[in-house]
Amino acid sequence: MNPTDAVRMKSALRQAIRAAAEDEPPIGAVIVHEGKIIGHGRNRRESFQDVTRHAEIEAIRQASRRLGSWRLTDCDLYVTLEPCLMCAGAIVQARIRTVVFGAYDPKAGAAGSVIDVFSLRLNHQVEVRGGVLETECALLLKDYFKNRRLRDKAQGTRAQRKQDALRMLRHTRQAESDKKTI
Ligand SMILES: [Zn+2]
Repeated sequence: MNPTDAVRMKSALRQAIRAAAEDEPPIGAVIVHEGKIIGHGRNRRESFQDVTRHAEIEAIRQASRRLGSWRLTDCDLYVTLEPCLMCAGAIVQARIRTVVFGAYDPKAGAAGSVIDVFSLRLNHQVEVRGGVLETECALLLKDYFKNRRLRDKAQGTRAQRKQDALRMLRHTRQAESDKKTI
């Protein structure tokens, strides 16, 4: 394995760990330009209830802001999980030079697992390397989903917990307005 790839993937892993701390599936990304990280991203889809809040998109947005350009021609993106279809599309659109990913995603991976966007005859070609620190990246996800399943079993799913909290809030408000009318 390329030692530089491993160092940069560790930076992406740190972003993934931050995502896990925020109760998001742990996926992290960084973008490197001329040897420096200019974009960080982590999965925040749940926090924002926004389907586009994938780690890669966040990193692309930050890198574009820093460079003042949507063209990330001399940039390399490191991400802990194989990009999905949306992110693979954005990576091509942003003209990113290289994508290095950690774990493979047999259910949604668009860099060879389900579909290979990067092998299509598009106007921009991206170099791809997969399986960098694969075990660490995959283990983080596996642990997260295992813990989530255990918690869902004990306390209900995230959607159920949200519903319960809303119901509780309604009850409290009702009780308060009942008190006022007495
Ligand atoms: Zn994605």
